[in-house]
Amino acid sequence: MLEVEKIRRDFPILSREVWGHSLVYLDNAATTQVPESVLQTALDHYRCNNANVHRGIHRLSELSTQSYEQARQRMAGFIGAPDDRCIVFTRGTTDGINMAACGLEHLLKPGDRIIVSMLEHHSNMVPWQQCARRTGADFIAVGLTEEGDIDLRALEEALVPRTKVVAISCCSNVLGTVTPIERIVAMAHEASAVCLLDGAQIMRHRLIDVQAIGCDFFAFSGHKMMGPTGIGVLYAAPPVQNLLDPCVFGGEMVDRVSLRETTFEAAPLRYEAGTPNYVGAIMLGAAADYLESVGRADIAAYEDELIAYAETRLKGICGLHILGNPQHRSGCLSFTVDHVHPFDLCALADKLGIALRSGTNCAQPLLEDVYGIPYVSRLSVAFYNTFDEIDRAADVLEQVIPLVCQGF
Ligand code: PMP
Repeated sequence: MLEVEKIRRDFPILSREVWGHSLVYLDNAATTQVPESVLQTALDHYRCNNANVHRGIHRLSELSTQSYEQARQRMAGFIGAPDDRCIVFTRGTTDGINMAACGLEHLLKPGDRIIVSMLEHHSNMVPWQQCARRTGADFIAVGLTEEGDIDLRALEEALVPRTKVVAISCCSNVLGTVTPIERIVAMAHEASAVCLLDGAQIMRHRLIDVQAIGCDFFAFSGHKMMGPTGIGVLYAAPPVQNLLDPCVFGGEMVDRVSLRETTFEAAPLRYEAGTPNYVGAIMLGAAADYLESVGRADIAAYEDELIAYAETRLKGICGLHILGNPQHRSGCLSFTVDHVHPFDLCALADKLGIALRSGTNCAQPLLEDVYGIPYVSRLSVAFYNTFDEIDRAADVLEQVIPLVCQGF
């Protein structure tokens, strides 16, 4: 059982006011708040040990490098990677997927196939679309069932022998659909394709064991799991650790440089050109510690209860329609309201202290091609949210919907 009131004290931002109302932060799919322990880690590092990593031989450089490499080990442990060489620090999920899409180009020829699904975030769609454009490979997006799950039969059919890459999200940032990743990885491997998983939305909702899942690549962001912005991880399984061509070049990723030729370090350093965001990585390690101290299984169970409760409450609001009804929804849900523009709705809710997201949610193909709508409103939870906050958000929506309908 989570002690939510105690947990909330770790996040001072949650007790601030917005427009004179106490804040109800329900935009966790966009970014999560950062606990004091993680913030303190950054202060401690800058105050006591700050120096660039992997460079100097002086004491501070040694200490900074140690903390950075410990963070790598920490993240390997956190996702069940076999060793820390599998962990490439990136700027986030988008950066990791771009690194993979660019680094795999050398494997792709005209007529090869890259498969994504219709529920992907633009970050797991556009890099592959561009990769296909550059290589002549075909770019295919597998459809969804009526409920908003990935249509596995369609995926099976799409997996022709020349499929080289399958890139799928573990959890939709719009519908909240949790996808059957073990099954998808197995299907991709059966077709001898490389499988990348977009883990941006799953990290705090579910225990991730990349070896048990069997994926080749797994990308995620620190700021969606109580860590800072500007840091993330691209996991690369041992057999594909050095498969990606490096696409960003500079200091530290090289083995030897001469005017004629440059050779590169082995993974992970060959993918970390320039000064890395080492303080971000150290904070990410602290965020992993924090999540484990709270209890990851308890977090997952509680967040599932919260989103199920939100679904029940919102379904009771007249004219409000929730998108999809997936087999397992986690973390977020999106909705439309008859005759109400999501921007107006969320702007008014904000004036009463409720932080929701409105817009395309970086999933235009999903909204436009599957649901035929340009924008949605989204409510997304984290384990520091309470059932009372869901009630407050639902009450506020009930209150503002008629106002928006009347043109304020
Ligand atoms: N994939 C999904 C499913 C996401 O929700 C997000 C962030 N909204 C991303 C990728 C991109 O993450 P980032 O912006 O941290 O790179």
